[in-house]
Amino acid sequence: MPIVNRVADLHPEIQAWRRDIHQHPELLYDVHRTAAFVADRLREFGCDEVATGLGKTGVVGVIRGKKSAKDGDLKVIGLRADMDALPIEEATNLPYASKTPGKMHACGHDGHTAMLLGAARYLAETRNFAGNAIVIFQPAEEGGAGAAAMIKDGLMDRFGIEQIYGMHNGPGIPIGSFAIRPGPIMAATDELNISIQGHGGHASRPHKCIDSVLVGSQIITALQQIVSRNVDPLESAVISVCEFHAGTARNVIPQTAELRGTIRTLTPEVRALVERRIGEVVAGVAQMTGAKIDLDIKRGYPVTVNHVAQTELATDIAKEVAGNNNVLETPPLMGAEDFSYMLEARPGAFIFCGNGDSAGLHHPAYNFNDEAILYGTSFWIKLVENTLAA
Ligand SMILES: [Zn+2]
Ligand SMILES: [Zn+2]
Repeated sequence: MPIVNRVADLHPEIQAWRRDIHQHPELLYDVHRTAAFVADRLREFGCDEVATGLGKTGVVGVIRGKKSAKDGDLKVIGLRADMDALPIEEATNLPYASKTPGKMHACGHDGHTAMLLGAARYLAETRNFAGNAIVIFQPAEEGGAGAAAMIKDGLMDRFGIEQIYGMHNGPGIPIGSFAIRPGPIMAATDELNISIQGHGGHASRPHKCIDSVLVGSQIITALQQIVSRNVDPLESAVISVCEFHAGTARNVIPQTAELRGTIRTLTPEVRALVERRIGEVVAGVAQMTGAKIDLDIKRGYPVTVNHVAQTELATDIAKEVAGNNNVLETPPLMGAEDFSYMLEARPGAFIFCGNGDSAGLHHPAYNFNDEAILYGTSFWIKLVENTLAA
């Protein structure tokens, strides 16, 4: 049987944890209940060490194998799940729907946490490996860079982590399938903020004004040529201006306008190119129109780059769990993940586990599919047992 038999026994319990966490969603670093739930379970399982408070509310469990690793062999691998939910009003009508208005587990981090707990329980029970398995439960994946906060608090060095792996559920990928690719798998995400200071006045006297609405429109139009004419057509980039605020009356040319948007890229080179070109385009429009324009690009999560050797390893494990035909090579996604920081710190890989035909991530009708538990949990277990061979 490709999935681990014991996981089938543990399935009802893992599902119950998942649904408990689902009912109690918490945001960003404020995951106190979830972190306490995780730490309590890890202690119950008999983890050799349970550390709390890394990256404010992150939790780490250390599970030592039966044997110590031989010299030259891999000794310590890290497995990472995320614990935080989203500020979305749940619309699933599930009996175990969120009990907190305005918050829900719409990205499946409840499932990620439960699956890694299931693997921790099995690994602490059996310990059929040499070296240490480190289970990592991070806060604030959804925009708070919780992964970076845990690394800053010494995650990698304190536990001697040599390789690191992450998993996310994937709506649209069949249950019992995985998807992965070497190299960039998710995009860098940067915030774009543009403040335009024109010169307001009467709508009938435009020649006495600097029309901030027109300036904003010219910027938005000019930005389109960066992706179409500056970025190599074989590379990827997205520049989306999603907010344009200006004006309060139909007969007043407004003094100011605000534009906000997001930039997505898949390599550091394209990221830098896009950043530079936005600066030049904005400066050009400022010169052309006489408006004063402030540009602020805030760098967010870096590109999530899978390391080649660890991606091969994760692919082999996924094939063992799901079968050779059920591990797909995914194209990169233009969404972002703060697991990118962990892959900057250590070699490793990020893999998608099929969530079947569910609503999309961050949708009010989304739900983690409990049928994925067997596959995701088995993946974690086999990853440890095969890479830390006893
Ligand atoms: Zn998300
Ligand atoms: Zn997520």
